[in-house]
Amino acid sequence: MKEKEIAVENVVDLKGIRGYDFIRKVDGQIEIGALATIRSIETSPLIRSEIPLLSEAAGKMGSVQVRNRATLGGNLCNAAPSADTAPPLLCLGAKAEIVDASGVRMISLEDFFVGPGKSVLEGSGLLKKIVVPLLPEQSAGFYFKHSPRKMMDLAVVGVGCVLILDGDRKKCADSRIGLGAVGPVPFRAKKAEAVINGARSPRRRSKRLQQSRVLRQNRSRT
Ligand SMILES: Cc1cc2nc3c(=O)[nH]c(=O)nc-3n(C[C@H](O)[C@H](O)[C@H](O)COP(=O)(O)OP(=O)(O)OC[C@H]3O[C@@H](n4cnc5c(N)ncnc54)[C@H](O)[C@@H]3O)c2cc1C
Repeated sequence: MKEKEIAVENVVDLKGIRGYDFIRKVDGQIEIGALATIRSIETSPLIRSEIPLLSEAAGKMGSVQVRNRATLGGNLCNAAPSADTAPPLLCLGAKAEIVDASGVRMISLEDFFVGPGKSVLEGSGLLKKIVVPLLPEQSAGFYFKHSPRKMMDLAVVGVGCVLILDGDRKKCADSRIGLGAVGPVPFRAKKAEAVINGARSPRRRSKRLQQSRVLRQNRSRT
């Protein structure tokens, strides 16, 4: 509208819709309403303890002022390939609940993005919430954002990663890598995941993974 590419008669501000702004734990899953702000995701004690890589990614988006206004729904429905919340949510196996004239349906977030700036919503329908299954105890995750400037810059590469170790913590039972800004849509790097799956865990862990481990250990304590 600002670019005068479209002219509309009515504009609906979703931010006043009740029941779309929540962060809660339900049946072993985290549910985040589409109207939850990025700042509330960054600072939520529940998200920090249960899925710290998502609060880490939220904290790397724009400025505090932007994060105070921007919602999770807006960040995902914009369908920018560089959206910072997409890679961590993809590797967390998130699902999206969509409401439209035909009813309510739940789809995998992997199927949500269809092209740059395009989602399955195609301008009709609302994203109501994102549902994130919890990770097992022996897991770690992080979000890495590479951008030319340290602050207030879009990702040139955004990488979310989750590693789940097997019962005796010696092998990688499952790995998930979500990539942003390196293709038309955010996506899972499944060939790279297959290389890591089954690999023995290295004796010396990287500082990032150690930090992530500490976060999860703190989670077990709280
Ligand atoms: C200065 C600046 C810096 C930024 N830096 C970053 C950054 O570092 N990383 C990053 O990822 N992004 C960045 N952004 C982009 C910004 O994060 C997104 O634009 C923001 O998340 C949008 O959120 P919003 O709630 O304002 O959505 P809006 O702008 O209101 O909506 C975006 C689009 O999504 C649709 N929409 C919104 N919610 C829903 C819903 N629930 N269901 C269906 N459709 C919906 C709207 O109709 C609209 O088409 C930046 C933006 C600015 C201005």
